[in-house]
Amino acid sequence: MTETHTPSMLEVFNDNFDRAARYLKAPADLLEYIRACHSMYSIKFPVRIRGEVQIFRAYRAEHSHHRIPTKGGIRFAPDVDLDEVAALAALMTLKCAIVNIPFGGAKGAIALDPRNYDVEELERITRRYTTELVRKNFIGPAVDVPAPDMGTGEREMAWMADTYIMLNPNELNSMACVTGKPVGQGGIHGRSEATGRGVQYALREFFRHPELVKAAGLQGGLTGKRIAVQGFGNVGSHFARLVHAEDGTIIVGLAERDGTIYAPEGLDVQAVLQWRETTGSIKHFPDATTLDNAKTCLELDCDILVPAALQNQITAENAGRIKAPLLVEGANSPTTSAGDAILRERGKVIIPDIYANAGGVTVSYFEWVKNLSHMRFGLMEKRIGIRKQRQMIAGIEAVTERTFPAPIRDEMLHGIDEIALVNSGLEESMVESFQNIVEIMHQNQTPDLRTAAFVCGLHRVITAYQELGIWP
Ligand code: NAD
Repeated sequence: MTETHTPSMLEVFNDNFDRAARYLKAPADLLEYIRACHSMYSIKFPVRIRGEVQIFRAYRAEHSHHRIPTKGGIRFAPDVDLDEVAALAALMTLKCAIVNIPFGGAKGAIALDPRNYDVEELERITRRYTTELVRKNFIGPAVDVPAPDMGTGEREMAWMADTYIMLNPNELNSMACVTGKPVGQGGIHGRSEATGRGVQYALREFFRHPELVKAAGLQGGLTGKRIAVQGFGNVGSHFARLVHAEDGTIIVGLAERDGTIYAPEGLDVQAVLQWRETTGSIKHFPDATTLDNAKTCLELDCDILVPAALQNQITAENAGRIKAPLLVEGANSPTTSAGDAILRERGKVIIPDIYANAGGVTVSYFEWVKNLSHMRFGLMEKRIGIRKQRQMIAGIEAVTERTFPAPIRDEMLHGIDEIALVNSGLEESMVESFQNIVEIMHQNQTPDLRTAAFVCGLHRVITAYQELGIWP
């Protein structure tokens, strides 16, 4: 399998869509309607930067309105174009359907490299972009709700929310116009690490399916597995930190844009984060070998490879050299169609992006609901819960005439707070969706998890459109 050119994300999406469509009994015209991106907004706006006017290209694509609002991140990347944003919006539609979240898919972007601008400049660019979205009704709690993606985070979401609120002073639910905000600005505990944690929950669930573990040529559970992670940003760094600290995995390799660090005995992820904080790079981390090529990370000897940086990283060129038997796509569309075909031929198992990285949008949904309810999760129930637990402990102690073990008692009397509820909801969503995908794979005899995930998402969108009908 060769590739004459690097395919666009839209081409990769269409290939996967076509593969899945063969397993669906849906009218061809409906499928074409579902494939198409329904609204696209392409803007050029000026911002004065260091005394000169710079023109910025920016986009917002709403892929499907079968559920509203639409939902999807905002990306800051220099080479982004409308096709890329439309493909990412389409992936969002299926992602939301797979995890059963009532949103259509959307995505937005500004073509810029955030490293070239200072904080004040980035704020003005973000606020102007938000204003452009407001002017064309491409943002709003009931319309279209952005979130962070590559190059953006809590800070940009706070600016977007504030701009929207300034322009809509009488709207009661305006805080719900964007998710991924800082907790003090209407955000929710657990959102910043939600995508990485979702990848962790996906992996844990994978290892509860012995037939899949065997198909990947692996044995046992997640503990002790050797993992390489490409991209040490929001998704990659939280994922690596969590599976290292909570699952006893060995992080053998990490890559950033300027290089790879490799340590077969395992990296202390917290120490690497600290090292980058101090030196500005993961390179030359004292307890690892530094390799200058960022892509080398993909070819390291490991059990699990997690691409969590960019699209189009695993292609016909390098898929033959990937050693990991199991891949989990933290990034969106990291594998081209030809790369995917080679991996499948070689018996690799891939947990696909449209499921694996759905943790972010899942917790974004919780944040949106929290903003609409104007109350934090757990506030009403927490004290009642603690009182009931205390009564139960006292009852058990009275009947058994023994003292309850202190660590269990402390945990029970801590009560359930927002972060516990968020992680519980996220885990439920990731576990249930994985089981749905596996069931579809077995029922339809799809050859791999990606096709099954596409079938799962498409089936739900098809059903929604069939139930809704077409207006007028
Ligand atoms: P981010 O900007 O926080 O992190 C990306 C990281 O990748 C950065 O640290 C960057 O330096 C690094 N990088 C850039 N080029 C690289 C290269 N060639 N090799 C290795 N590393 C490189 O972005 P993010 O939010 O972590 O997003 C990463 C991927 O995950 C994207 O594909 C994004 O669409 C996807 N994703 C993100 C979320 C989310 O909640 N943030 C949700 C779902 C999917």
